[in-house]
Amino acid sequence: MQILHAQQALTAAGWQDDITISIGSDGRIAAIGPIDQPPDTRVDLVLPAPVNLHSHSFQRAMAGLTERRGDDPTDSFWTWRKLMYRFLDQLTPDHVEAIAAMVFVEMLEAGYGAVGEFHYLHHGPGGVAYDNPAELAARVATAAGQAGIGLTLLPVLYHQGGCDGRALGGGQQRFGNGPEAYARLHDASARIISDGPSDWTIGVAPHSLRAVSPAALSDVVEMGANGPIHMHLAEQIAEVEDVQAHLGARPAGWLLSNHDVDDRWCLIHATQMTPQETADLAKSGAVVGLCPITESNLGDGIFNGTAYLSKGGSFGVGSDSNVHIGLFEELATLEYSQRLRDRSRAAMALPGKSVGRTLFDRLAHGGSQAAGRDSGTLAVGQLADIVGLSTNNPWVCGRRGDTALDSLIFAGHGRDCITDVWSAGRHVVQDGRHLKRDAVERAFMATMADLSGDL
Ligand SMILES: [Zn+2]
Repeated sequence: MQILHAQQALTAAGWQDDITISIGSDGRIAAIGPIDQPPDTRVDLVLPAPVNLHSHSFQRAMAGLTERRGDDPTDSFWTWRKLMYRFLDQLTPDHVEAIAAMVFVEMLEAGYGAVGEFHYLHHGPGGVAYDNPAELAARVATAAGQAGIGLTLLPVLYHQGGCDGRALGGGQQRFGNGPEAYARLHDASARIISDGPSDWTIGVAPHSLRAVSPAALSDVVEMGANGPIHMHLAEQIAEVEDVQAHLGARPAGWLLSNHDVDDRWCLIHATQMTPQETADLAKSGAVVGLCPITESNLGDGIFNGTAYLSKGGSFGVGSDSNVHIGLFEELATLEYSQRLRDRSRAAMALPGKSVGRTLFDRLAHGGSQAAGRDSGTLAVGQLADIVGLSTNNPWVCGRRGDTALDSLIFAGHGRDCITDVWSAGRHVVQDGRHLKRDAVERAFMATMADLSGDL
């Protein structure tokens, strides 16, 4: 049993002062309330540690390498994707593991308790299979175990190069699996997860409507049965046009008419949606996976956030390309995108509520739903995914409750206020630093020295 004392805590019952949280050896919250024992840890303020619901960890190693303008006058997501394919062709299993470990350490230090790893890198260069079809999934899991992060592993099916069913291009061959190979990969991945900590789980991830045929999508959804189903939905206009030309409808509209989209689904980058699609998706019960920093970095466009929120839609956030891993910055970026578009303020706040509180409540709930994880709120029986913060600093001093949350998100330095993070009771960040940071950082830097940054 670990005991933690907080001066302020955002619990399932709202803000509470001066409370004690007991964490059982099963990694769950055993009690909240007065307890007759001195605490192991004292913190100023605690929040539920949200799930980072969408990550491609290997892409962290190319952060900063794609910010030059190339010869192509229309530098875009698609030119970035070419560079990404070139970069990933160098990666060995050891590289994949070292990069993922660094990413997971950074996520924990940023205040996330768990990650949904949308894992699509399966084979060696040129698509040559490893002896173990889940070799790279195993490396990601090893990294998650080393970091102590909660893991929802999402093995990805990617079997065509576009909606017309064309073969995979050169850079895509490391992702490719037919339906049978995917079933084998998923079985092997499920064994890895069941051998891991009890809070880990697995889902399915049909990559997108451009990379998965309608028939294969139905098969994968059936295979996923009761677990999370994650899919990229509508990130780019060219993707919307491709889907429309071949399936006769826009991606969100097509999916909602052809599948029973419900609370098992997490749809990543629902950027390109009509008002009708936005309202229909909000009503479906699915979580939309927003990645505001990556979407800004790639110039994807602006999510219909205010309309979606007004219809009661669920969402969470993910760091996707991991170009920058920052929980509070994701929320500020989302809010600012709405303000810039509408020339407004407090765009994503529900009436009478603060922006920070509205966003944080939604993201904590949506992330956990998307990950199939018992977390997102501080309540007895929930996994102890907890972030502890100091208010003894220039950015939050004297602030309480929702105002403290707004300050963490908008005043900068939210990350600098984090002192402690627990993932399912694993107290992996202490004094603002992950306990294994030094070793993980050394391996990551050795990997970076191996990789050519000349894309
Ligand atoms: Zn993605």
